[in-house]
Order: sequence, then structure tokens, then C-alpha cells
Amino acid sequence: MYKRDNLEIPLNKALYKNADLDSKIIVRTCLNVPIKNGEVVDKTRIKEALPLLEELKDKAKRIVIMAHLGRPEGRDMAFSLEPVRQVLEVYLKEKITLIDDINADLDMISEDYKESERIFLLENVRFWAGEKDKDIDKQIDFAKKLSKFGDIFINDAFADYRESASTYQIAKLMPAYLGPLLYKEVKSLSMFTNAQRPFVAVLGGAKLSEKIDVIKSLGKAADYILLGGGLVYTLLKAKGYNIGKSLFDEEKLEVAKEIIEEFSDKLILPKDHIAIEEFKEPKDEKMYTVINDVNIPDNLMGVDIGPNTVEEFKNYIGKAKSILWNGPLGVFEWNLIGNETKNVAQAMVENKEAYKLAGGGDSISAINKYNIKGFDHICTGGGAMLAFLAYENFSTLDIILNQV
Ligand code: AMP
Repeated sequence: MYKRDNLEIPLNKALYKNADLDSKIIVRTCLNVPIKNGEVVDKTRIKEALPLLEELKDKAKRIVIMAHLGRPEGRDMAFSLEPVRQVLEVYLKEKITLIDDINADLDMISEDYKESERIFLLENVRFWAGEKDKDIDKQIDFAKKLSKFGDIFINDAFADYRESASTYQIAKLMPAYLGPLLYKEVKSLSMFTNAQRPFVAVLGGAKLSEKIDVIKSLGKAADYILLGGGLVYTLLKAKGYNIGKSLFDEEKLEVAKEIIEEFSDKLILPKDHIAIEEFKEPKDEKMYTVINDVNIPDNLMGVDIGPNTVEEFKNYIGKAKSILWNGPLGVFEWNLIGNETKNVAQAMVENKEAYKLAGGGDSISAINKYNIKGFDHICTGGGAMLAFLAYENFSTLDIILNQV
């Protein structure tokens, strides 16, 4: 769990509102949107980035927006930010110039175009090897170039939490501040560092390997961890139960045993299941079975928690004062299967007393699919959320907080 004494104080001081916004500002934001045939198909992330950009549009001398899109291997125009630029231009109602030259002299460009050319979008930062180079000196060299584009740096990219030139190295080179999205994510997640009790965490998803560190951390911080999704079967097997053909991670069996031993009184595992014969979407009720037992027969695989588990989870959730959720509890994408994730999520928002936070791409998809309303905060970066909960440091945040 992220750890910093009196976090509130540096967090408030580092907020971008404290900066002299009448400046040339570099903003690192998250514009990693899905693109098909050159068009943005889901604009959510662009819309989320807008409030800051709109405020800066009114106040700043110049804005240079930096972001990455996808995982290009070098310069690959399929990952160009041009489609994003077009959408941003419509929303911001101002000309936005795509810059593809890392050495561009923006003072010259701005001078040429006078006031009309004030907002720039740098082409996908991952087009340059320096962004993520393993050689940190090369990252620093690239960050030095980026830093020439402005006088102040604002990081608003919570989801892009890994250290790179544009998220981390640049913050060492100039006055650096937190954008409103990053600030809100951290403030919301930090509710769990001194959580009101009982603190109940609900973890699901397919892969145990991705959740081990967070289970270990929440095993200390939370009162109960309710576990569902594909990840539970390795834990159940470690306890000696029969898991049939369910998802199983042989390599994690030992660590699963350790976790179970260390946190045996906190981990709440499914006691019944919904199972199918082979991993394909059931089209009618005959194609899946409710197994009223923790053991799964050899010919079946678990694809969701069972009804008794749902009731037990609802019981814990109903009494909680702090609720944290990451990862679906079953294959919610299948229409006949997702009801368990839906019912558990619904129970979370029905607890009006508790502070409730959900996050991660699949949990957000489930929340949208079932139209669940009432979470206090929905965290947009699943990996970043898990990192914040699992480890004591969060370097792209710390590098900014250390300045105040
Ligand atoms: P993750 O990417 O680890 O967050 O896992 C999310 C995915 O796990 C979703 O696509 C779910 O459909 C899938 N999932 C949830 N429960 C199971 C399960 N019991 N077996 C296989 N996949 C599952």
C-alpha cells in the first residue's frame, strides 16, 4: 500500500492550481484510446482529459500535450496521434498542431502563426526510443528535449504510471505539478491507507500472477479479501480442493500456499461455483451447471462464483465501511454467466455507509454493462491502481511530491 506521512499536505501543494499557469506548459496526459480505420472509437479518455486542457486553454501562454498511443515498435503511423488531434480540436474549438519534430522550435512556430498556434500535440511519445529506453541516460537525454517545449510540467496520466522520459525523467528537470485526474485518483485510493473498518477488498480477474503482490499488501491492510474469477482456482488447488479443468497456474502454486497460510483468516474463497464443460459461451441453461460444493468435478471448469458465495460476499460487503473492488468474479462477458459479478457489485453500491471504489478495465466494463451506479470513485488505470495498492512507492507521483 502506498505510504507517505501526511500525504494530504504535499498532494494539495503539488496540485497544478498552485502553478503560475500563465506559462508555457507541458502536459502529460492519457490519450491511449482505441482507434479503428483512422478513427477514435471510444472517446472516454479524451473527454476525461478535457477539463484541464480547457482551463489551460484560457490561462496558458502555450500548451504542449504529450501522450502515448498503444505499443508501437518505433515509428509506426498506425499508432499516430493524428486521429486524437482531430477529436481534440473539435472539443477544444481551437487549432491544434501535431508536432513530429522533437527538436522543433515552438517559439518560432508560435511567432510565425501568432496567437492562433498555441496548442500543440506531440506525436506519440513512444515513436522515440528514448521514451522507454532501458539505458536511463538515453531516457534523460530524451526528457531534456521534451523539457524544452515549456517552463512547467503537469502530469495527469495516472494510468501511465511506469517510469519513462515523459512521465518521470522530465519531472526532475523542471517545476512539476499534478493534474486533476492524477490528483483525484491518488486522493481516492489513499482513502484505503487509513481505511474505515471493516475494510473489505473484492478481487477477481483471470490471472493470479497479476494479483499476488496486491493480495499480500491487502492481506495486511484489509479486514477481508473476497476472491473470485479465474485466479481463485490456483488458491483452491493449493488448499487441496479439486478444481477440475478450471484455470490453473502451476508456477504460482507454491506462492498460493504461502498466501493462504499467512492470511488464512482474511481470504474468503468461493464455496460453490458455476461451471461448464468447455470454455465457450453457454447459450442456454443446460450448458452450465451450478456446483453446490467447493470441489469441481474433473470434467468441468469453474467460470463464476456460485449463489451461496454471492450471499456470503454480500454479507461481508453489507457490513463494510470501506469497499475496494478490482476484477470481475466470473466471465461476465457471457450473458448467461455475469449475474454473480452484477449482484456482488450491486451490493457494494447499496451499502450507503461505505466508501466504495472500483477500478480496472474489466470492472469498469462490468459496471457499464450492468449500469451500476453509486461508486464514490472509479479508477481508470487498473495496473496503476494495483501498483498503488501493492507497493509503498509510486515513483511518477513521488518525483513530483518530492519537489514541494
Ligand atoms: P484480468 O484480465 O486478469 O483482469 O481478467 C479479466 C478476465 O477474466 C475477464 O475477461 C473474465 O471473463 C475472465 N474471467 C473471470 N473469471 C474467470 C474464470 N473463472 N475462468 C476464466 N476466465 C475468467
